[in-house]
Amino acid sequence: MSKSRIFAAVESERDSLVGLARDIWEHPEIALEEEYAANRLREELEDAGFTIERGVGGMPTAFTGTYGSGEPTIGILGEYDALPDLSQTVSTNREAVEVGDPGHGCGHNLFGVAGIGAAMALAEAIDRGDVDGTVRFYGTPAEETIIGKVFMARAGAFDDLDAALTWHPADVTGPQRTSSLAVDSIKYTFKGTPAHAAMAPGAGRSALDAVQLMNTGVEYLREHAPDRARIHYTITDGGGAPNVVPAEATVWYFIRSPSRPQVENLTNRVNNIAEGAGLMTETGVERNYVTGAWELLTNDTIGDVMWENMQDLGSIPFDEEDRAFAAELHETIDTETLLTRLADLPEDVREAVEGESLATDPFPRTDAAPFMMGSTDVSDVSWIAPTAQFRVSTWPVGARAHTWQATAASGGFGLRAVSYAAKVLAGTAYDLMVSPDRLEAATEEFELATGKRSYETPLPSDAEPPFRGGIQY
Ligand SMILES: [Zn+2]
Repeated sequence: MSKSRIFAAVESERDSLVGLARDIWEHPEIALEEEYAANRLREELEDAGFTIERGVGGMPTAFTGTYGSGEPTIGILGEYDALPDLSQTVSTNREAVEVGDPGHGCGHNLFGVAGIGAAMALAEAIDRGDVDGTVRFYGTPAEETIIGKVFMARAGAFDDLDAALTWHPADVTGPQRTSSLAVDSIKYTFKGTPAHAAMAPGAGRSALDAVQLMNTGVEYLREHAPDRARIHYTITDGGGAPNVVPAEATVWYFIRSPSRPQVENLTNRVNNIAEGAGLMTETGVERNYVTGAWELLTNDTIGDVMWENMQDLGSIPFDEEDRAFAAELHETIDTETLLTRLADLPEDVREAVEGESLATDPFPRTDAAPFMMGSTDVSDVSWIAPTAQFRVSTWPVGARAHTWQATAASGGFGLRAVSYAAKVLAGTAYDLMVSPDRLEAATEEFELATGKRSYETPLPSDAEPPFRGGIQY
C-alpha cells in the first residue's frame, strides 16, 4: 500500500523533476566545476527540509542532504558533471549548441535529479510514518574523472551507510550485475637537460626519449599482465620545437585490471619501468598520482530488490514522439558500434532489443560479461557499504555513453525516464527500510564478498582533488 504512495509521491513531482533535468542539461559543467547543478539540487533538498553538508571531501561542488533519524541509513548517489566538447542540440544531426562547450553525453543531468526525486519521496514517507530511518542524498561531482566519490570516501562520507543505491542512463533497463576495472591514473614527468638538437646533441639529455623508452618497456609488460588488464597512455607534453632536446616531457597512464591488488602490482612494475627509462636516458622522473579506484562490487540482493521494483513499474512510458526521435537517432549509429554494443548484452536481452530503436521493458540482468571494461568511482562506495546500480533506457539501443547521440537523447526523450529511475530508487530504498531481512541479506552478501579485504583509499595521503586540467576518463 505504502509502496504505491512512494511511487505516487515521485509521480506528483514529475514535471518539476523533468524541468530540473532539462535545466541542468542546458547548463553543462565539467568535473569539479558543477556549481550550477550542485546548487540547484541542493536548493531543492534544502527546501524540502534536508540537512545539508557542503564541501564534502574538500570539493565545493560535493554535498550531502540528510533526512530522518536512526537506522537504517540508506544512501542515494547522484552525479551531475558533463563532458568537454560534447555540446549538442536536441536533434538527429551532429550539431553543437556552442562549438567547444561541454555537453551531457553521459546523461548525468538525469542522474542526480532522479536521486533527489527519490530522496524527497522517501522524506515524505518518513514524515507520514510509513518508514523509519535516515535517507541521505549524495551530490557526487566529477564522476567522469573518477574523483568525486573517491575523495568523499577518503573523508569517510559513506562510513555509516547500511546500503547505497544508484543508477545510470543507458540504452537498456535493468540491474547492473557486473564488476568494473580497478584503476590507477598517474602522470610521469621526466626532466632532462636541454641542448641544441643539431649543434650540441651530446650536451642534451632528452626527457622525450625517456617517455618513449618507458612506453616501449610497458608494451613489453603487456604480455605479462593479468587477463583483462588495460594499460593506456597519452603523451601530454612531448617538448617544444624539434631543434631543442626536450628538457621536460610527461606521459599520462591509466593502469586497469579486474582487482585492486592486481592494479597495485602492475603500477609497481610500471613505476620500475619509468625508473629504468630515467636511468637509460640520465633523466629524473617525478610521479603525480592523479586518482584511482577499486573494482565494483555489485550487491545482487539489492539488485534483486531493484528488479522487483522494475517489474512493479513495468515499461517506461515513452510516447510516440519519443519513439520517433529515438528511431531517427538510432539510424545515425554506425553498424560496428551497434554490433559491438549488442554483443555486450545477455542473449535474451539482445534478442529482445535487436532491430528496436528504443528498449522500454526492464530485464533482470543487462550484461553478458562479468566485467564492464571501464572504471567508475561508485566502486569505492561499493567496498564501504552494500551497493547496487541499475540502468534505465534514456538513449537509443546501441548508442554509447559519451557520444553526441547520448547528449541529444539526454535533453530529449531521456527526460521521460527520470521519474522511472526515481521510482526504482525510492521503491528499493523503501523495501530495504521496511524489510530488515532484506537489508541483513544484503549485508551478509557484502561481508562474504569483501572477505578479509577492507577498503583503503587508493589516494596518497597528501592528494588533493585536481581542480585544473579538465581530466576526463
Ligand atoms: Zn556516466
